[in-house]
Amino acid sequence: MARITLNNIRHSYLPNPKSDDDYALQRVHLDWDDGGAYALLGPSGCGKTTLLNIISGLLIPSEGQLLFDDQDVTALEPDERNIAQVFQFPVIYDTMTVRENLSFPLRNRGVDEETIATRVAEIAAMLELDSMLDKKAAGLTPDNKQKISLGRGLVRDDVNVIMFDEPLTVIDPHLKWKLRSKLKELHQKVNRTMIYVTHDQTEALTFADQVVVMNFGQVLQVGTPVELFERPTHTFVGHFIGSPGMNVLPASVVAGSVQIAGHTVDTASDIANLKQGTVEVGVRPEFVRFTDSGIPGAVETVMDVGRHTVVKVKLDGLDHSVNVIVDEGDDLPEGNVHLQFEPAQTRLYEDGWIVAETQG
Ligand code: ADP
Ligand code: MG
Repeated sequence: MARITLNNIRHSYLPNPKSDDDYALQRVHLDWDDGGAYALLGPSGCGKTTLLNIISGLLIPSEGQLLFDDQDVTALEPDERNIAQVFQFPVIYDTMTVRENLSFPLRNRGVDEETIATRVAEIAAMLELDSMLDKKAAGLTPDNKQKISLGRGLVRDDVNVIMFDEPLTVIDPHLKWKLRSKLKELHQKVNRTMIYVTHDQTEALTFADQVVVMNFGQVLQVGTPVELFERPTHTFVGHFIGSPGMNVLPASVVAGSVQIAGHTVDTASDIANLKQGTVEVGVRPEFVRFTDSGIPGAVETVMDVGRHTVVKVKLDGLDHSVNVIVDEGDDLPEGNVHLQFEPAQTRLYEDGWIVAETQG
């Protein structure tokens, strides 16, 4: 096991990169603690696989160092790094049985047959592959093939880190839910560093203690699920996480107060910390209320999403709507309404980044 440090890593797939846009990873600095459960979350194309492949050694970064504990492993071959990686699609030997597939990573490293038998039995039971151990992999469903892939990643107990790159893509929704909780359970049992890559916030937030949110080749925030919800440090994080995500509205500062479409809004941020950038207000739908006075608008749509209702309000004089979450049983507004934002949960963003709060 090891602590993993990415020290100013940049990567471009181009031979002569010039601007930041030429880099799939712009500049990443991260510490992954030994034994942690991490998720790497971001939309398709943001650089997640590139980052994983740099850790596993399938890619050598254009710049920067990768450290395991304090050893520089940037130039080591993948098989010298002692890592397990599970890919999006099954990587297995079709002609081997399930048992042979699961045994392979251990046999390959000279583990004795008795230990192999014990480990394979444990992993097979966990993944519910025990009834098909002596079947050839070739005849199995895509689900089961991917479970073998997962098993091959989990079977060794001496790896520095286990990395999963969108491993549940080919798994059907019902089993997805089950495997997700299994992986979480397994992490708690073995306490090994695990990095789980996904574009799905639910998968990330249920699996990980710490979530790394990325977009456009940059790490935007590293935090617990609660931190990402309560205090997104970038508008992208606020918008990407939550359902629906944080409302982000254009704002201006007039005579020392923050205004949206001419209406004053109280926020937790300190306007003294503003520079000269583009200012926006961010507030989650959970923290917007219907009141008698406040920002005027008109109800556009009402959507029942089970535990609560999402009301979408088009703001007067602005080309923007605000989502409001109304709890089950509360009155649903119609027509013209006024909105108020909970000041403690309303923040300013400048050029996308959070504006610091008043020190109190
Ligand atoms: P993600 O896994 O988050 O979907 P990737 O790391 O696969 O993102 O890709 C990041 C960026 O790098 C994308 O713009 C993608 O098109 C580009 N990219 C990925 N792999 C290669 C490659 N082998 N050659 C050139 N460009 C690539
Ligand atoms: Mg990917």
